[in-house]
Amino acid sequence: MATIRSRLTAWYSAALLVSLLAFAASLYLDRRVSSVRELDERLAIEADFSVGYLENSYRVLGKLVHLRDGIPQLDPGVANFFEGTTSREYVVVTDPAGNVLFSSEPAARLGFSSFQRLRAPLVPVPTERSSGTFTFDPSIGPVRYVIVPVREAGPEIGALIVTAGDDVVLFGPGALLRSMLISLPLILGASIWLGYRLAGPSLKPLTTMRREIEAISDGQSLHRRLLVDSSDPQMAGLAASINRMFARLERSFTALHRFTADASHELKTPLMVLRSGVERALTHPGAPPESIEALDQTLEGVNAMTELVDNLLTLARADEGRAPLALTPVDLRELVTDTAETAGMLAETSGITVTFEVPEEPVVVPVDRTRILQLLLNLATNAVKYTPAGGQVGLELTASKTTVEVAVRDTGIGIAPGDLPHVFDRFWRADVARSRSGSPPGTGLGLAITKWIAEAHGGRIEVQSRPGRGTQFTVTLPRETGSAVDGADSVK
Ligand code: ADP
Repeated sequence: MATIRSRLTAWYSAALLVSLLAFAASLYLDRRVSSVRELDERLAIEADFSVGYLENSYRVLGKLVHLRDGIPQLDPGVANFFEGTTSREYVVVTDPAGNVLFSSEPAARLGFSSFQRLRAPLVPVPTERSSGTFTFDPSIGPVRYVIVPVREAGPEIGALIVTAGDDVVLFGPGALLRSMLISLPLILGASIWLGYRLAGPSLKPLTTMRREIEAISDGQSLHRRLLVDSSDPQMAGLAASINRMFARLERSFTALHRFTADASHELKTPLMVLRSGVERALTHPGAPPESIEALDQTLEGVNAMTELVDNLLTLARADEGRAPLALTPVDLRELVTDTAETAGMLAETSGITVTFEVPEEPVVVPVDRTRILQLLLNLATNAVKYTPAGGQVGLELTASKTTVEVAVRDTGIGIAPGDLPHVFDRFWRADVARSRSGSPPGTGLGLAITKWIAEAHGGRIEVQSRPGRGTQFTVTLPRETGSAVDGADSVK
């Protein structure tokens, strides 16, 4: 999840990595340049000292080169001195013809080609002091050198080369790079961890605000507002904007509910007048048969409209919080039995069997009798309506210590899995052609009202269905008033 927290940490880490790399690179480059300078200064001093030593030794000894096994070599005393002072450097002394008179221990250990490269600038004997960099094989690395012609140490001495790698410099670039490669990931890892930890508290107000918004927008609490914390101007501005949006939403919802409630209420009386007029005309002894058929259809339409208006009024009042429940202790076995009988009468003509099962003990629960009866009738009439002839509808009441459950199941046409999440939506109806022919079309509000009734009692309603096999609606209600059933608001 690309949360703000992880995004902030990622950006912060990237910025840190870039600045660390820039810092490390500049430090490394600077160290490389200054270490070459340090090396050159050190080599110059060593070379001058060695030349001085050769010249002084010549003045004292008079002869610095002796033949050993027929090969001219530097005086052993002088050679020993060089050996003692040049433990890590390559030092080579040649005669004017370029023959090697002395090579330090490390130089003698060099491979043939590397040694030849070291010797090359001494043949022919240089006339000027010079310096530069040798690159031997990668295991040795680059090496700085200084070549100095030796003029006052007798005719047998030609020149001298002194070299040193950057490992002789105190904390050279190589050492710096190594320690940076170790410390950089550690610093980066620690900073990412710290950044992630720090991002949490700074985003906490947002998390708290999100929770508050969720609680307000659950559908029941639109009158509540977010806390405006004036100590944090940015969050306070955000909370104030969201509060203004909630206020506008609340006004729109209230107006919408009020309009629906008022319109439904206003429609009730004219519909009643219309209905009694049609009924009077129908029962008029002199009514011609062709008018009776038309009047019958009109009465059916008026009845459907009255049902729709009643349902709309119920939902509008529920939304406004103006549909209080009149809770009284009711034995639910009675309501289930009554519902099964009514459904049985409806089902008679279509050859559907309606059965019911209730416990032997009374199941007394504080409920609004009329509403629960409405809920059960909605489910049972739907079950009959959407079950083909010859099918079965069953009602079952079960009770546990804390809850009661009413299951209404049928062997009807079922509901497609994709439609299941919508069955409780207002005005939602599956393909009308699927309902049993002959049954009057519904309004699509029955299940929305059923769900509201269950939830208003602190309960919940669930549906399971298999197309072509049947459907089961299960209503769970708490046995005590006010103790909500777990997950009561999980069915939307
Ligand atoms: P209606 O008045 O159309 O029955 P409801 O809200 O009661 O409205 O039901 C909504 C829709 O859910 C129905 O149109 C129907 O498609 C589907 N439905 C409800 N109960 C059943 C059932 N027992 N079997 C199959 N479909 C059902």
